[in-house]
Amino acid sequence: MPEHSELTGNRHGQAGEKPSLVGMTREQLARALAGIGIPERQARMRTAQLWHWLYIRGATDFAAMTNVSKELRAEFSHHFSLDRPEIVTEQVSEDGTRKWLLRFPPRGAGRPVEVETVYIPEEGRGTLCVSSQVGCTLSCTFCHTGTQKLVRNLLPEEIVGQVLLARDRLGDYPGHSPADGVVAPATGRLVSNIVMMGMGEPLYNYDNVKAALLIAADGDGIGLSKRRITLSTSGVVPMIPRIGAETGVMLAISLHAVRDELRDVLVPLNRKYPIAELLAACRAYPGLSNARRITFEYVMLKDVNDSLADARELVRLLAGIPAKINLIPFNPWPGTDYECSDWAQIERFADVVNRAGYASPIRTPRGRDILAACGQLKSETERLRIRERMALEAMIAG
Ligand code: SAH
Ligand code: SF4
Repeated sequence: MPEHSELTGNRHGQAGEKPSLVGMTREQLARALAGIGIPERQARMRTAQLWHWLYIRGATDFAAMTNVSKELRAEFSHHFSLDRPEIVTEQVSEDGTRKWLLRFPPRGAGRPVEVETVYIPEEGRGTLCVSSQVGCTLSCTFCHTGTQKLVRNLLPEEIVGQVLLARDRLGDYPGHSPADGVVAPATGRLVSNIVMMGMGEPLYNYDNVKAALLIAADGDGIGLSKRRITLSTSGVVPMIPRIGAETGVMLAISLHAVRDELRDVLVPLNRKYPIAELLAACRAYPGLSNARRITFEYVMLKDVNDSLADARELVRLLAGIPAKINLIPFNPWPGTDYECSDWAQIERFADVVNRAGYASPIRTPRGRDILAACGQLKSETERLRIRERMALEAMIAG
């Protein structure tokens, strides 16, 4: 059985009225410091100090900042916060996958919102799957998140906050030992990769996602290589060149169908940006090479998109694009009419793809027992009822 803990209260403190320093650019940080009277000539040095404490050391409290005077620390904590998102639940799957349900405070007249963040430990790497929005406007018919309408975009501090929270909980800071039961991958970093594949369409929250990813990739802070950060989009074509040029992160495309008639149904955004336009944007994505390929995600839906003719067409469509293909076994959720393709069919499909030169493309489902697998994320506002959960478990077992 998965471990399931309801954390009461919040060990990191709930974000309150004070602005958080997490998620600000260096310029915004410097301006915030100027706003509390830090002299301009000090701003650069203070910004660098804070950046180090926030992103290298993972400080959750100004008191930890031992190279800052006591008076100034008090001043900082009077005006600013370093709060993490509130943890509503933390679940650990039988396979080591961890899922956090996180709550963010209301913004303006709104109400508190909840999102999920998932950590997937694998041989040699640890991938954090981060959410960009609460819900999603895009209603892809096979996606659980798509059944929840958009509540709001997440802010940079809330996107970066997911990364910091995961690192806190895992013990992923220099000089810390990993939390109980967590095995450090060979890279030494627990969160070695980030994928924007949680809830939401990241390119519909462009500015905030971009700001957050630039912080995750900043060499004086979290410092993840851009090759270890992947943004997945259902195909918001006009934003694809921009995210490439402005961040340089890796791209994943939720393709899922090779014909427009079918993709129009599975990924309704296709009616606006059909396959040919999407692939043209992929071909033009900056910096592609054999070492920097686009990942094409393809969810395996029984008798819908899983024929061998589809596999051959997939290979034909992608010819000439440095590509990886990721076949995702469909993860069922209560209320869906789709079924996952039979395993034998997935393997036959994968064979066609393999023979065209794409290596081991089947993505093993992770964390299914805690509903942490792709497309199963949905926030607590619509928490699964026991009956639904049982139906789902039966579906997975069958
Ligand atoms: N909105 C973005 C990123 C989040 S979805 C996008 O669509 O790309 C992350 C991946 O999970 C996408 O490829 C999505 O199509 C896939 N997915 C969604 N629902 C799924 C399900 N039930 N089973 C398997 N994969 C699913
Ligand atoms: Fe939104 Fe992606 Fe789900 Fe489509 S697959 S509904 S774009 S989260």
